Amino acid sequence: MLKVGITGNIGSGKTTVSRIFEILGVPVFYADDAAKTVMVEDPILIDSLKKEFGGESYFDDGSLNRKHIASIVFHNETQLAKLNAIVHPAVFRAFDNWVGSIKEAPYVMKEAALLFESSSYKMCDKTIMVTAPLELRISRVMQRDNLSHAEVESRNARQFPEEKKTQLADFVIRNDDTELVIPQVLELHRKFSSLVQ
Ligand code: ATP
Repeated sequence: MLKVGITGNIGSGKTTVSRIFEILGVPVFYADDAAKTVMVEDPILIDSLKKEFGGESYFDDGSLNRKHIASIVFHNETQLAKLNAIVHPAVFRAFDNWVGSIKEAPYVMKEAALLFESSSYKMCDKTIMVTAPLELRISRVMQRDNLSHAEVESRNARQFPEEKKTQLADFVIRNDDTELVIPQVLELHRKFSSLVQ
Protein backbone atom coordinates (compact mmCIF):
# COMPACT_ATOMS: atom_id res chain seq x y z
CA MET A 1 0.00 0.00 0.00
CA LEU A 2 1.42 3.37 -1.04
CA LYS A 3 1.73 5.66 1.99
CA VAL A 4 1.63 9.41 1.51
CA GLY A 5 2.57 11.71 4.40
CA ILE A 6 1.03 15.17 4.49
CA THR A 7 2.18 17.99 6.74
CA GLY A 8 2.41 21.74 7.05
CA ASN A 9 3.13 24.23 9.78
CA ILE A 10 0.46 25.58 12.09
CA GLY A 11 -2.50 27.02 10.17
CA SER A 12 -1.19 25.95 6.77
CA GLY A 13 -4.43 24.06 6.12
CA LYS A 14 -3.08 20.50 6.14
CA THR A 15 -6.25 19.17 7.80
CA THR A 16 -8.47 21.05 5.35
CA VAL A 17 -6.45 19.67 2.41
CA SER A 18 -6.52 16.15 3.89
CA ARG A 19 -10.32 16.33 4.06
CA ILE A 20 -10.38 16.96 0.30
CA PHE A 21 -8.31 13.78 -0.25
CA GLU A 22 -10.80 11.95 2.00
CA ILE A 23 -13.69 13.18 -0.16
CA LEU A 24 -11.85 11.56 -3.11
CA GLY A 25 -11.96 8.25 -1.24
CA VAL A 26 -8.46 8.25 0.23
CA PRO A 27 -8.27 6.94 3.82
CA VAL A 28 -6.45 9.47 6.04
CA PHE A 29 -4.82 8.70 9.39
CA TYR A 30 -4.71 11.81 11.60
CA ALA A 31 -1.56 11.33 13.69
CA ASP A 32 -2.30 14.12 16.16
CA ASP A 33 -5.71 12.63 16.99
CA ALA A 34 -4.10 9.18 17.19
CA ALA A 35 -1.51 10.54 19.65
CA LYS A 36 -4.33 11.62 21.98
CA THR A 37 -5.93 8.17 21.72
CA VAL A 38 -2.78 6.12 22.29
CA MET A 39 -1.96 8.18 25.38
CA VAL A 40 -4.98 6.68 27.11
CA GLU A 41 -5.18 3.32 25.32
CA ASP A 42 -1.69 1.96 24.59
CA PRO A 43 -0.56 -0.04 27.66
CA ILE A 44 3.15 0.13 26.73
CA LEU A 45 2.99 3.90 26.41
CA ILE A 46 0.99 4.37 29.63
CA ASP A 47 3.54 2.30 31.53
CA SER A 48 6.48 4.26 30.12
CA LEU A 49 4.82 7.59 30.80
CA LYS A 50 4.13 6.70 34.44
CA LYS A 51 7.74 5.53 34.89
CA GLU A 52 9.15 8.70 33.31
CA PHE A 53 6.79 11.37 34.65
CA GLY A 54 5.24 9.73 37.71
CA GLY A 55 1.98 7.95 38.54
CA GLU A 56 0.20 11.31 38.73
CA SER A 57 0.42 11.45 34.92
CA TYR A 58 -2.98 9.72 34.98
CA PHE A 59 -6.08 10.27 37.06
CA ASP A 60 -7.76 7.35 38.84
CA ASP A 61 -10.30 7.00 36.01
CA GLY A 62 -7.46 6.44 33.50
CA SER A 63 -7.69 9.84 31.83
CA LEU A 64 -4.50 11.77 31.15
CA ASN A 65 -3.38 14.50 33.53
CA ARG A 66 -2.50 16.94 30.76
CA LYS A 67 -1.66 19.76 33.16
CA HIS A 68 0.91 17.60 34.96
CA ILE A 69 2.59 16.53 31.71
CA ALA A 70 2.47 20.06 30.28
CA SER A 71 4.02 21.53 33.42
CA ILE A 72 7.00 19.17 33.01
CA VAL A 73 7.62 19.51 29.28
CA PHE A 74 6.48 23.04 28.47
CA HIS A 75 9.76 24.88 28.99
CA ASN A 76 12.05 21.87 29.03
CA GLU A 77 13.34 20.57 25.70
CA THR A 78 14.92 17.47 27.26
CA GLN A 79 11.66 16.42 28.91
CA LEU A 80 9.74 17.17 25.71
CA ALA A 81 12.14 14.96 23.77
CA LYS A 82 11.53 12.19 26.33
CA LEU A 83 7.76 12.56 25.94
CA ASN A 84 8.06 12.43 22.14
CA ALA A 85 10.30 9.37 22.36
CA ILE A 86 7.50 7.62 24.25
CA VAL A 87 4.53 8.86 22.20
CA HIS A 88 5.88 8.70 18.63
CA PRO A 89 6.59 4.93 18.56
CA ALA A 90 3.05 4.31 19.89
CA VAL A 91 1.62 6.44 17.07
CA PHE A 92 3.79 4.51 14.57
CA ARG A 93 2.31 1.26 15.93
CA ALA A 94 -1.22 2.66 15.64
CA PHE A 95 -0.51 3.73 12.05
CA ASP A 96 0.80 0.29 11.11
CA ASN A 97 -2.29 -1.36 12.62
CA TRP A 98 -4.53 1.11 10.81
CA VAL A 99 -2.81 0.49 7.44
CA GLY A 100 -3.26 -3.24 8.01
CA SER A 101 -6.99 -2.71 8.52
CA ILE A 102 -7.51 -0.92 5.17
CA LYS A 103 -8.91 -3.40 2.71
CA GLU A 104 -9.14 -1.41 -0.47
CA ALA A 105 -7.75 2.02 -1.36
CA PRO A 106 -5.57 3.43 -4.12
CA TYR A 107 -3.24 4.72 -1.42
CA VAL A 108 -3.43 5.94 2.18
CA MET A 109 -2.34 9.17 3.82
CA LYS A 110 -0.86 10.12 7.17
CA GLU A 111 -1.54 13.68 8.30
CA ALA A 112 0.96 14.79 10.93
CA ALA A 113 2.06 18.23 12.10
CA LEU A 114 5.49 16.85 13.01
CA LEU A 115 5.96 14.49 10.06
CA PHE A 116 9.52 15.69 9.48
CA GLU A 117 10.42 16.57 13.08
CA SER A 118 9.41 13.08 14.25
CA SER A 119 11.12 11.32 11.34
CA SER A 120 7.85 9.55 10.57
CA TYR A 121 8.21 10.76 6.98
CA LYS A 122 10.73 7.93 6.60
CA MET A 123 7.82 5.50 6.87
CA CYS A 124 6.05 7.23 3.95
CA ASP A 125 6.66 6.58 0.24
CA LYS A 126 5.80 10.17 -0.74
CA THR A 127 5.38 13.38 1.21
CA ILE A 128 3.36 16.56 0.71
CA MET A 129 4.01 19.90 2.39
CA VAL A 130 1.11 22.38 2.59
CA THR A 131 2.34 25.96 2.70
CA ALA A 132 1.00 29.45 3.31
CA PRO A 133 2.70 32.69 4.38
CA LEU A 134 3.28 33.08 8.11
CA GLU A 135 0.94 36.04 8.64
CA LEU A 136 -1.92 34.28 6.85
CA ARG A 137 -1.36 31.15 8.93
CA ILE A 138 -1.26 33.17 12.12
CA SER A 139 -4.50 35.01 11.30
CA ARG A 140 -6.26 31.71 10.45
CA VAL A 141 -5.30 30.15 13.78
CA MET A 142 -6.06 33.30 15.80
CA GLN A 143 -9.55 33.14 14.33
CA ARG A 144 -9.97 29.37 14.65
CA ASP A 145 -8.65 28.99 18.22
CA ASN A 146 -9.20 32.48 19.61
CA LEU A 147 -5.48 32.87 20.38
CA SER A 148 -3.26 35.95 20.39
CA HIS A 149 -0.77 36.71 17.63
CA ALA A 150 2.11 36.02 20.04
CA GLU A 151 0.68 32.65 21.13
CA VAL A 152 0.39 31.39 17.56
CA GLU A 153 3.83 32.77 16.71
CA SER A 154 5.42 30.90 19.62
CA ARG A 155 3.72 27.63 18.57
CA ASN A 156 4.99 28.15 15.04
CA ALA A 157 8.52 28.73 16.38
CA ARG A 158 8.50 25.21 17.85
CA GLN A 159 8.16 23.66 14.39
CA PHE A 160 10.84 23.35 11.72
CA PRO A 161 10.81 26.40 9.40
CA GLU A 162 8.56 26.04 6.34
CA GLU A 163 11.52 26.32 3.93
CA LYS A 164 13.28 23.36 5.50
CA LYS A 165 10.19 21.14 5.26
CA THR A 166 9.44 22.29 1.73
CA GLN A 167 12.91 21.12 0.72
CA LEU A 168 12.39 17.74 2.38
CA ALA A 169 8.94 17.17 0.83
CA ASP A 170 8.35 15.50 -2.54
CA PHE A 171 5.38 17.75 -3.33
CA VAL A 172 4.09 21.14 -2.21
CA ILE A 173 0.48 22.34 -2.08
CA ARG A 174 0.18 26.11 -1.87
CA ASN A 175 -2.80 27.09 0.27
CA ASP A 176 -2.17 30.83 0.20
CA ASP A 177 -5.26 32.23 -1.53
CA THR A 178 -3.30 32.87 -4.75
CA GLU A 179 -3.70 29.38 -6.19
CA LEU A 180 -6.79 27.16 -6.21
CA VAL A 181 -6.27 24.20 -3.88
CA ILE A 182 -8.63 21.61 -5.38
CA PRO A 183 -6.82 21.40 -8.77
CA GLN A 184 -3.52 20.90 -6.91
CA VAL A 185 -5.10 18.08 -4.90
CA LEU A 186 -6.60 16.48 -8.01
CA GLU A 187 -3.26 16.53 -9.80
CA LEU A 188 -1.52 14.74 -6.92
CA HIS A 189 -4.42 12.31 -6.56
CA ARG A 190 -4.04 11.34 -10.23
CA LYS A 191 -0.29 11.00 -9.78
CA PHE A 192 -0.51 8.75 -6.71
CA SER A 193 -3.34 6.68 -8.19
CA SER A 194 -1.28 6.07 -11.35
CA LEU A 195 1.76 5.05 -9.29
CA VAL A 196 -0.11 2.06 -7.89
CA GLN A 197 -1.79 0.86 -11.10
P1 ATP B 1 -3.01 23.12 12.81
O1 ATP B 1 -1.62 22.71 12.58
O2 ATP B 1 -3.11 24.28 13.70
O3 ATP B 1 -3.91 21.98 13.24
P2 ATP B 1 -3.80 22.97 10.01
O4 ATP B 1 -2.55 23.10 9.22
O5 ATP B 1 -4.37 21.60 10.14
O6 ATP B 1 -3.62 23.66 11.42
P3 ATP B 1 -6.42 23.79 9.24
O7 ATP B 1 -7.03 23.50 10.56
O8 ATP B 1 -6.76 22.92 8.10
O9 ATP B 1 -4.86 23.94 9.36
O10 ATP B 1 -6.73 25.29 8.81
C1 ATP B 1 -6.56 26.37 9.74
C2 ATP B 1 -7.78 27.29 9.65
O11 ATP B 1 -7.74 27.97 8.41
C3 ATP B 1 -9.10 26.55 9.70
O12 ATP B 1 -10.03 27.33 10.42
C4 ATP B 1 -9.49 26.42 8.24
O13 ATP B 1 -10.89 26.37 8.06
C5 ATP B 1 -8.90 27.70 7.64
N1 ATP B 1 -8.45 27.53 6.25
C6 ATP B 1 -7.58 26.61 5.79
N2 ATP B 1 -7.39 26.76 4.46
C7 ATP B 1 -8.17 27.80 4.08
C8 ATP B 1 -8.42 28.46 2.84
N3 ATP B 1 -7.82 28.07 1.71
N4 ATP B 1 -9.29 29.49 2.84
C9 ATP B 1 -9.89 29.89 3.98
N5 ATP B 1 -9.70 29.33 5.18
C10 ATP B 1 -8.85 28.30 5.24
